[in-house]
Amino acid sequence: MNKFTVLLIEDEKSISDFTSKTLSSHGYRVRCASTGKEALSLASSLCPDILLLDLGLPDMDGMEIIHQLRTWSSCPIIVVSARTQENDKVRALDAGADDYLTKPFGISELMARIRTSLRHSNQLNNGYNIPHHPYRAKDLEIDFFKRSITINGQPVHLTPIEYKIVAFLAQNSGKVMTYSAVMNNVWGPYSESDNKILRVNMANIRRKLEKNPAEPVYIFTEVGVGYRMADDEESQCF
Ligand code: CA
Repeated sequence: MNKFTVLLIEDEKSISDFTSKTLSSHGYRVRCASTGKEALSLASSLCPDILLLDLGLPDMDGMEIIHQLRTWSSCPIIVVSARTQENDKVRALDAGADDYLTKPFGISELMARIRTSLRHSNQLNNGYNIPHHPYRAKDLEIDFFKRSITINGQPVHLTPIEYKIVAFLAQNSGKVMTYSAVMNNVWGPYSESDNKILRVNMANIRRKLEKNPAEPVYIFTEVGVGYRMADDEESQCF
């Protein structure tokens, strides 16, 4: 299934290794960054579902990362820091962090905080709600809660970015979504204006979803404008 992606931003290798192992064993996909620069670049290329952020990084303060991220991303941020001052917590939360955990932390508490943040962000998810029913068109079904895509009941394996593109189009099915709307939603507003990366991903998506990618039945191209996903048959029953 499509695991949630955690971007772990931590410069202390022992903590990073331990946390990352624990997260993986709990079913999360984990990517690590040990500097602020690396963190910002991965945050935009990887589109993680949640960020765990240490404030004391070698090249920049974690606070700066929160400020920069919040100009374009609503991805939940949990600060994990040795700074225990109330003032530090307030500043981080005011800057846009969703939660704050002080080191040393217990694993079960970290897991609980992650689940809570993901639940909140799913409810807010970039301004649209996760639909209460799956998307269905012909043989394709998307379950937004399980993040699973099946064709004729057979699971289709998409990368996290491919899934985000398809889910965004499905949640706006029947409407033309412009290239820039999709790019903004998936990669954030600092995404490149060139939509080559989107077209590459779409080619891969079509190979996985469509019987004949040259004559798609699920995701249509509106030439020069964007994409339109086939109407959700399920929603028309209501
Ligand atoms: Ca540190």
